Amino acid sequence: MKTDAARVVVIGGGLAGITAAIALAESGADVTLLEARPRLGGATCSFHRDGLIVDTGQHIFLGCCSAYRGLLDRLGMTEHAPLQDRFDVTVLAPGGRRARLRRTALPGPLHMLPALGRYPFLSWAERAKVPRPALAMRRVDPADPVADTQRFGDWLAARGQSARARRALWDLFSVSALNIAGDDASLALAATVVKTGLLGKNNAADIGVPALPLGELHGDAAATVLAKLGAHVTLGAKVSAIEPGEPGDGFRVRLAQGGEIAADAVVLAVPHEKAAPLIPPDTLPDGTVAGWAGLGASPIVNVHVIYDRPVTGLKFAAAIDSPVQWVFDRTRISGMTAANHGGPGQYLAISLSAADEYADVPAARLREQFVPALAELFPAARDAQVTEFFVTRERRATFRQAPGSAALRPKTATRQPGLVLAGAWTDTGWPDTMEGAVRSGLTAAVELRHTVLTSTIGVRQ
Ligand SMILES: Cc1cc2nc3c(=O)[nH]c(=O)nc-3n(C[C@H](O)[C@H](O)[C@H](O)COP(=O)(O)OP(=O)(O)OC[C@H]3O[C@@H](n4cnc5c(N)ncnc54)[C@H](O)[C@@H]3O)c2cc1C
Repeated sequence: MKTDAARVVVIGGGLAGITAAIALAESGADVTLLEARPRLGGATCSFHRDGLIVDTGQHIFLGCCSAYRGLLDRLGMTEHAPLQDRFDVTVLAPGGRRARLRRTALPGPLHMLPALGRYPFLSWAERAKVPRPALAMRRVDPADPVADTQRFGDWLAARGQSARARRALWDLFSVSALNIAGDDASLALAATVVKTGLLGKNNAADIGVPALPLGELHGDAAATVLAKLGAHVTLGAKVSAIEPGEPGDGFRVRLAQGGEIAADAVVLAVPHEKAAPLIPPDTLPDGTVAGWAGLGASPIVNVHVIYDRPVTGLKFAAAIDSPVQWVFDRTRISGMTAANHGGPGQYLAISLSAADEYADVPAARLREQFVPALAELFPAARDAQVTEFFVTRERRATFRQAPGSAALRPKTATRQPGLVLAGAWTDTGWPDTMEGAVRSGLTAAVELRHTVLTSTIGVRQ
C-alpha cells in the first residue's frame, strides 16, 4: 500500500482504463481499477467454446496506431501482434475473381498508386478518378466542425467517386474503420482515417493482426503489469455513483454491491451510456450529458464457421459484391488442432461492421446466407463440411460515427477538479478504436498529473 501517494480510482477496465491505470501507477499514484465484469479488456475479450478460444469480435490495427502499439509494448505483447511487412490485402469477389492491394516501397501517398491503378474491380475511368478525392482530402481538417457536418459518401460523390467506386474501394477501409455504412460516416472521422492511414507515411496502413486471443493479449497481460506496479484491480466491481466531497476533499466512489472507496481523483473510463448516470450534477456544461445519447451505437457481428478441412491459405481477406466484408483464418489462434477437432479443419471468422441488418437475425438464417457466400469466395469450401457454426453479436460495439458526432464527444477534463473522462468515445479525434481508447487513457493520466495529482502528491509526501 502506497500510504503517501495520491489515491486514484479508475472506473472501467477496457483499454482506456487499463492505459490510464498503468500510466498513473507509473507516476506514483495509488491506483485502484474497478471493472464491472469478471475480466479486464472491455470490448476486446475472448471466451472458451468447445475447446476453442473465441474472440467476441476480430480486431485489427494499423501501423499508424502508435499509442496502441505503445500499450502492446508496455504489456510485453508486441511480438504477439505482428504487423505486415507491407500493406497487403487480397480482395475477393464471387466467382473466383480476386485482386491484391499491396503497397510499394514508394513514399506515401505514392505507395498505393500502382496497386490502385491495377485494381480490377473498377473500370479504367473509375481508377483514374481515385486520386482526386485522395488529393482533396489533404485539405480537409478533421478538427474542423464543418467537416463533421458532412457525409463521407456525399463528399466522395462530389469528387467523382461513383457508387461502384465507393462500394468496391472506399468501403473496404471506411466501413471497418468507422463501423458505419461508408456513405453515412462523418467526413471528419473519415479524414482522420484516410489522412493518417492512406496519405501518411508509407507504412501507416500496414495491418496488424493479433496472434493471441484478445483476452490474453490485453486483459491477462494488463492484470500482470498492474499487479507488478502495485495497483489494485477489483473485478466484478460495478460502480453505482461518484460523489464529490467538499473542494479538496476528493471523491467517494460507491459500488453497486455495497461499499465505497475514497479517492483524490477519478478516471471514468466506461462507455457513454454507462458514464451518463455516473456523472455528478454540474460536472459538465448543461445539456452535455443528455447529448451523449445522440452518439448512439453501431453493432458488429462476427460469424464463425468451422470446416472439416482447409478451404483457403489466406490469413485474411476482404470481399466485395458479397455479404462477407472481411474474413479471418482463426484456426491457429483459437487453439484448434487436428487432435481436438477430429481432423485438419479450418476456422474462419467473418467480421461484419455496421451490422444493423444482421444484429437480430437468428444464427440459422445467417448460416443459410453466409455458408454459401463463403463457398462463392473460396471454391474449396463447396466440398467441405461445416462442422460448427455460431455467431457473436456486439450490439453496442462503437458509437455511431455519423455527421454531428464530433460535437458530442467530451473533452477529458470536467468542471470537477480530479474527475476526468476516458474512453474511445471521448474527444480523441480518432474513430472509436483501440487507438482512440489508448489515447484517451493517456490523455486522462496526463491531465491528472498536471492538475490534481501534482498538488496531492506534493501534499501527501
Ligand atoms: C466486435 C468489435 C470489433 C472491433 N474491432 C476493432 C478493430 O478491429 N480495431 C480497433 O481498433 N477497434 C475495434 N473495435 C473497437 C474497440 O474494441 C473499442 O474502441 C475499444 O476497445 C474501447 O475501449 P474502451 O476502454 O474505451 O471501452 P470498453 O472496452 O467498452 O471498456 C469499458 C469498460 O467499462 C466497464 N464498465 C462499464 N460500466 C461500469 C461500471 N459502472 N463500473 C465498473 N466498470 C464498468 C465495462 O465492463 C468495460 O470493461 C471493435 C469493437 C468491437 C465490439
